Amino acid sequence: MPPLLSSSETTVRTYFIELSYLLASILFILGLKGLSHPETAKRGMHLAEFGMLMAIVGTLMHLEIITYTWIILGLVLGSLVGLAMGLWVPMTAMPQRTALSHAFGAFAAALVGISEFYRHGGHVDKVTMGAIGFEVMLGALTTTGSLLAFAKLQGLVRGTPLTYKGQNIFNMALLATTIGIFVYLIIVPGSLPLFFAMAGLAFLFGILLVMPIGAADMPVVMSLLNSYAGLASAATGFVLSNKVLIIAGTLDGFSGFILSVLMCRAMNRSMTNVLFGAFGSAAISGKAGEQQGEMREVGLDDIAVQLAYANKVVFVPGYGMATAQAQHAVRELADTLEKRGVTVKYGIHPVAGRMPGHMNVLLAEANVPYSSLYELEQINPEFPTTDVAVVIGANDVVNPDARDNPGSPIAGMPILEVDRAKSVVVLKRGQGKGFSGLENPLFFKDVTGMLYGDAKETLTRLVQAVQQA
Ligand code: NAP
Repeated sequence: MPPLLSSSETTVRTYFIELSYLLASILFILGLKGLSHPETAKRGMHLAEFGMLMAIVGTLMHLEIITYTWIILGLVLGSLVGLAMGLWVPMTAMPQRTALSHAFGAFAAALVGISEFYRHGGHVDKVTMGAIGFEVMLGALTTTGSLLAFAKLQGLVRGTPLTYKGQNIFNMALLATTIGIFVYLIIVPGSLPLFFAMAGLAFLFGILLVMPIGAADMPVVMSLLNSYAGLASAATGFVLSNKVLIIAGTLDGFSGFILSVLMCRAMNRSMTNVLFGAFGSAAISGKAGEQQGEMREVGLDDIAVQLAYANKVVFVPGYGMATAQAQHAVRELADTLEKRGVTVKYGIHPVAGRMPGHMNVLLAEANVPYSSLYELEQINPEFPTTDVAVVIGANDVVNPDARDNPGSPIAGMPILEVDRAKSVVVLKRGQGKGFSGLENPLFFKDVTGMLYGDAKETLTRLVQAVQQA
């Protein structure tokens, strides 16, 4: 039994909860606004964190709480897991970490829905059934979908699309059956077996949904799963009559959806093509253009001289810069060049790295001024007047096949057109392929020189060589 409170104490608590939820909602909105720009992103993150704290404090004041034992246990366990992930998960594993977070959030939403239905023995009104069904369906498919995305990104299962004949029809039929049961339960609520069948099918559908999606499309899928997890939380809010969950879930759901659309645009793909196109399979079946010639290796001192006497240099960072943690070395090289009067700019591809804004975050960490970062559309017209384009561990985002070879699996994906620069230097460790697994004709062009080695080491040596040039 909850402790008996006087009516004035109850009123104070109720006001406190409402106020903390209102503050939390405002902070979430301000946080999202802050996150929309790299310069304000850190502040936005802190505002959202504070909003989450307000939401938790408000929730802990709820009058329906009988005992705090399980809540404290959950808080301690959750905090420990969060702390460990924050301390030890490297920046390069952020997409996997995000996938796991989506899985946890969605699983919590699904469990709340299942327990609410079970608690009432299935006898809920139609509106509540609608909210519970939506929550459980989205929560369940997001849980398994995110876990599979995690496994693919972590390399625990093959990142390539897993396809079979009639896959889309089978998936559609499964989804239609799940939705059919959901609709039936709204009309005639009460059947526990049907409810569990719906939940089970939704868990299965999550796996089948992500199975045919290639690793190259993971950014879109991740933001889509983020969106589903948010919408599942919003439905949880309706089930529990919790306003802050409704607001936060809706914000999360729709921002995730907008991000998915933006990512699709960045890769010149339609959402249906991402979800049902099994993109990436052609990469393995070898439809990429045949490569002619050899890669030309260049000496570090030659490149240092080229850079030192250039008028304009454009750095194009990619996933390799993240794995090498070379962002500080990049800035050092930029500083050294700028001191010699060279104009330095950075070309940022929206899907470079392994998560949206990956390059912006790393370069901001190294204090690269935001005004030096240029988006794809801004920097591409500048390449013909660029003396040296320095590609730092980027591959897919500078693959000219996307522009020149209609048969390429990445045909149509906008790229940073470094091959139009007067000279291109590619910093990478060896002949490794990019995320899509495709060969890159840029590396075989006459204009390109390859500088092999770990990006951080190479850049550090380049700084010294430029200083002596
Ligand atoms: P990428 O195509 O994955 O290529 C990275 C390159 O970096 C590799 O060719 C590798 O070659 C090199 N490299 C790795 N470690 C290095 C090191 N320590 N030093 C120097 N070079 C190193 O990267 P990208 O051009 O940034 O393209 C991103 C790809 O990831 C796109 O296909 C995108 O769709 C996908 N993706 C993006 C996101 C997102 O949200 N941004 C999420 C998931 C997937 P070597 O092995 O020879 O060194």
